[in-house]
Amino acid sequence: MPRESAEARKARAAKILRGLARAYPEAGTALRFRNAFELLVATILSAQCTDAKVNEVTLELFAKYGDAEALAGAPLEEIERLVRPTGFYRQKARSIQAAARGLVERFGSEVPGSLEDLVTLRGVARKTANVVLGHAFGVPGVVVDTHVKRVSGRLGLTRSEDPVKIEQDLMALLPRRAWTDASSRLILHGRALCHSRKPRCGECPLAPHCPEARRAA
Ligand code: SF4
Repeated sequence: MPRESAEARKARAAKILRGLARAYPEAGTALRFRNAFELLVATILSAQCTDAKVNEVTLELFAKYGDAEALAGAPLEEIERLVRPTGFYRQKARSIQAAARGLVERFGSEVPGSLEDLVTLRGVARKTANVVLGHAFGVPGVVVDTHVKRVSGRLGLTRSEDPVKIEQDLMALLPRRAWTDASSRLILHGRALCHSRKPRCGECPLAPHCPEARRAA
């Protein structure tokens, strides 16, 4: 197959964006939150766990520890007990408490609204930071999780396996205002059709723009 020019890839990316928007008109996160603090904690807990399970857990967690100060001062064993159903609970309990302490000690108990500050908090990588920025602050950001990595690779929007490089590739290809919603929709698409082991290309509305579909045909 001839190498695609940068211009052609951009035009194809625009068609993919439109296809994703039609297929998944609701692009928000399924995590329930009332403020940036709750979203930050919920996003840390969502690693390797369904959003529905996280929502169950955070209901009780935030009823007991509803802000950074309360979580920072909570007994660790109690946090572990509450977050246990989300898996990896010891590590997650430590991470959310350390993040809460970081907020109290360095940010006046408020969640900062910049990527640079957010990633200084323990347990907060770029992916988590971009979720918080996009959904709690309205600051566009590309979120690269396992679905975005796989789907954007198959769609030929990146050739990289490195999340930071993938983030940069998508930022270069997509308009800034679309970064957050496009990430959410790529995640939805990864869950719905573009499965890791058996992508359902026959049912996929993006197939006409997808090199992987052509290879599989
Ligand atoms: S055509 Fe297949 S590989 Fe391409 S995005 Fe759709 S499901 Fe994934």
